[in-house]
Amino acid sequence: MILSHTLGFPRIGAQRELKFALERHWRGELDAAALEAVGRELRQRHWALQRDAGLDFVTVGDFAYYDHVANHIQLLGCEPARFGFDGSEGELTRYFTLARGVAADIAGSAAGCGCAAAGPAHDGRPALEMTKWFDTNYHYLVPEFLPDTAFSLASSRLFDEVAEARALGHAVKAVVLGPLSFLWLGKEKATFDRLALLERLLPVYGQLLSRLKAAGAEWVQIDEPILGLDLPAAWRAAFEPAYIALAAARARLMLATYFSPLADNLNLACRLPVAALHVDAVRAPDELAALADWLPAHKELSVGIVDGRNIWRTDLDRALARLLPLAERRGGRLWLAPSCSLLHVPVSLAAEAGPRAPLDDELRGWLAFATEKLAEIDILKRVFNDGEDTVAEDLAASRRALAARRASPRVADPAVAARLAALPADADRRRSAFPLRQARQRERLGLPAFPTTTIGSFPQTAEIRAARAAFKRGELDSASYRERMAQEIAHAVRRQESLGLDVLVHGEAERNDMVEYFGEQLAGFAFTASGWVQSYGSRCVKPPLIYGDVSRPQPMTVEWTTYAQGLTARPMKGMLTGPITLLQWSFVRDDQPRADTALQIALAIRDEVADLERAGIAIIQIDEPAIREGLPLRHGDWRAYLAWATRAFRIAASPVADETQIHTHMCYAEFNDILPEIAALDADVITIETSRSDMELLAGFGDFRYPNEIGPGVYDIHSPQVPATAEMERLLEKAAAVIPAQNLWVNPDCGLKTRAWPETEAALRNMVEAAKRLRVRY
Ligand code: GLN
Ligand code: ZN
Repeated sequence: MILSHTLGFPRIGAQRELKFALERHWRGELDAAALEAVGRELRQRHWALQRDAGLDFVTVGDFAYYDHVANHIQLLGCEPARFGFDGSEGELTRYFTLARGVAADIAGSAAGCGCAAAGPAHDGRPALEMTKWFDTNYHYLVPEFLPDTAFSLASSRLFDEVAEARALGHAVKAVVLGPLSFLWLGKEKATFDRLALLERLLPVYGQLLSRLKAAGAEWVQIDEPILGLDLPAAWRAAFEPAYIALAAARARLMLATYFSPLADNLNLACRLPVAALHVDAVRAPDELAALADWLPAHKELSVGIVDGRNIWRTDLDRALARLLPLAERRGGRLWLAPSCSLLHVPVSLAAEAGPRAPLDDELRGWLAFATEKLAEIDILKRVFNDGEDTVAEDLAASRRALAARRASPRVADPAVAARLAALPADADRRRSAFPLRQARQRERLGLPAFPTTTIGSFPQTAEIRAARAAFKRGELDSASYRERMAQEIAHAVRRQESLGLDVLVHGEAERNDMVEYFGEQLAGFAFTASGWVQSYGSRCVKPPLIYGDVSRPQPMTVEWTTYAQGLTARPMKGMLTGPITLLQWSFVRDDQPRADTALQIALAIRDEVADLERAGIAIIQIDEPAIREGLPLRHGDWRAYLAWATRAFRIAASPVADETQIHTHMCYAEFNDILPEIAALDADVITIETSRSDMELLAGFGDFRYPNEIGPGVYDIHSPQVPATAEMERLLEKAAAVIPAQNLWVNPDCGLKTRAWPETEAALRNMVEAAKRLRVRY
C-alpha cells in the first residue's frame, strides 16, 4: 500500500487572507477572536483541500500567525525573560510582542529593502531577531537561549488544533520541529553551548509527543532538517540518545529531513528509533538507493518526490521510474510527499486564470502550485494502488504539458545559445587591474576623499505608489505616469545636490521592486497574478518565474538614468540589479542548471552596463544583496557555487573601460568566510551594511587586506531615527583604522525607499557633515 501526505501547506491563504487579517489586527481594527476565526477558517480550508486531494492524513501544526519557530518558542515555554512579561498578557499578545517588539514605530521600521535582516528596532525591547530558514526566502524568528533557559509545555494551541482537525473527521499527522533543529536554529545570548540545554528540553518533548498521541494524532512528523547540514560531531552524536529518549513517549514518529542530501548523516538518520523517515528526493535523488538499503524493513520510507521549492509540473514518468524500484525494494510500502513543506510555493493556480491574468494559458499549463502538487502526488499514488489505467487521462495530460514545455519555441532562444558559445574566455575580466583603473577613475571623477553617496532608492512615497497603482489600473495614462516619475527624479536630484552629496542616484522612483522592474523587461521572465509566498510574518513576495532563455530586448534603465544625469553636473550612478539576485529571488528553470540561467542574465545585464557607459554614465552600481544567501547548505558545494556566481557578476560588470567605475552593493557584511570571492568580484567599490555591527564586520576586510574601495554603511536605514554626525564620525574613524582611508566611501547601510523624506534629508545632511570632518583629518 502506498500512502501520501504533505510536510506542510502554505498558511497565508490563496488571497493572502492571513496577511490582511494580521495587519488589521495590528492596527487595532480586528480583535483577537476575529483573527483566530480567520486562522481557523484557513486551517479548515487547507485540511479539506488535503483530504480532497486524497492524502491519507492532514498535517496539523504547520499553521502559524507569524512563524512556526515562534510557535515552538511559546509551545516549549521559552519566551525570553528580557521581554518582561508579567503573566497578565494573553498568549497572542506575547506572541506578537516576540515577533514585532514593542516599538512605537513598528510600521516605519519594517524592513522593506529585501534585506529582511532583523525585527523592528526599539530602545529596550527589540523583537526577536529574524533570519533565513535554511536556503529559502522564508525568515524565522530566532529562539534565544541562556544557560538558565527552562522549558515546559506552555501552550495548548497545537493540541487544540489537533482536536479541531479530529472534530472535523480528519486523520491527523501532527508536525513539530525536532529538538535538535530547534536548538540549532536558536542563538546563545551568553557564552555557553546551547546543546547543553538538550537534557532539559527532551523531557518536555516527551510530554509533547505523549499529549499529541493522546489528542488523537496518529503520526507525529518531527522535522530535523539540520540532518542535511555539516554538523559538528557533538550535535551528530546527540541525535541517537535524544531519539532513544523520545521513543519512550510511544508516539509514531516520522523523522523528516529536507533541502539537502543526508550525506554523512544518512546512516544516522536510518538508525534512529523512529517509525518512518522522510527524505528530499528532489534535492538528493542519488541517495534513494542507499536509503532503500539502509532503512530497516519495518520502518516506513516517505519519499519527497514532488518539488516543494519550485513551481513546475512534475515529470510524473521520471518520478515513477524513481519510485518503482524503491516500492519493490520496500515490499510495496512507501509514502509519497512533496520534498519539503509547500510553504515555499503559492497556494493554487486557480487564481491565475482569466482574461486579465498576466500568465497566458501556455505558461500556466506548465505549472503546479501547492494544490496542484497535491494532485500530482495523488496521481502517483493511484498508479501504485489502483493501477495505471485508473489515472491514464491524468498521466496523459501531464505528459502533454511537459512535452509542450520542452518543445515550446518560447523556452530555447538560439541567439542566446550562440552568444554563450562565442563568449570569449576573458569576458569576465576588466581591461586593467584595479590600481590602474583606480588612478584613471580618480582622474576622471575628481571626487574628494571620503566621497559620499547613497545606495540607490529614495523614499517611495504614498504619491509614487498611488501613481503607479493608478497607472497599472489604467486610470493614469503612460505619459502622465512618466511625467510624475520625471518630477520625482528631478526632485531627488535637487535634494541630493543641496545636501552636497558627491555621487548622486536617480532614486528608483519608477521601480516597484528591484527584481520585478528588470524581470518585466527581460525575455524569459513571467509574472503571476497571485503567486504569493510568505517571506516573514505578514510579508509576502511574488517571485517572477524564469521559464526560458533570458535576453534583453532593449535598454532598461538608460532613459531614466541619462535624464537624471542631464539634471546635474555631478556624477549620476546607474543602478542595476545583479544576475545572482535576479536568479535568487525568482522561481528558476528546472530544465537547466542554475549556473546557466545566471550566465544568461549576466549577459543581459552586461548589455545594459555597456549601454549606460555609452550614454556617458561614469559610475554603474550592480546590486547583489542575494549573493551570500545563495550559498549551498553544505560547505562542500560552496566553491562551485561561488565560482559561477562571481563569474556571472564579472561578466555583467566587465564590458566597460578602465575609467568607468563599477560599484556593487550587498546587505549584511558577514562575508568573512567568503572574502576571497567577494574580492574576486573585482568591483571598484563595494558598499555593505555595517552600522548595526558597529563596524565590527569590517575588520575582516581589513585583515584580508581587501584591495578595492569600500563604503561601509554608517547608519541603519531600518529605523527612522536620525543618526548624529558625531556617531557617524566615530564609525568612520573605526573604519579608517582597518581600511586605508583613501579607499573609504561614506554611505548609508542600504537603500532609503522605506524611509520618509524628512528623516532621510536630516540623516544625509549629518552624514555629509561627518565626511567633511573626516576629510580635514586624513
Ligand atoms: N539599490 C537598491 C536600493 O537602494 C538596493 C536594495 C538592496 O540592497 N536590497 O533600494
Ligand atoms: Zn542593501
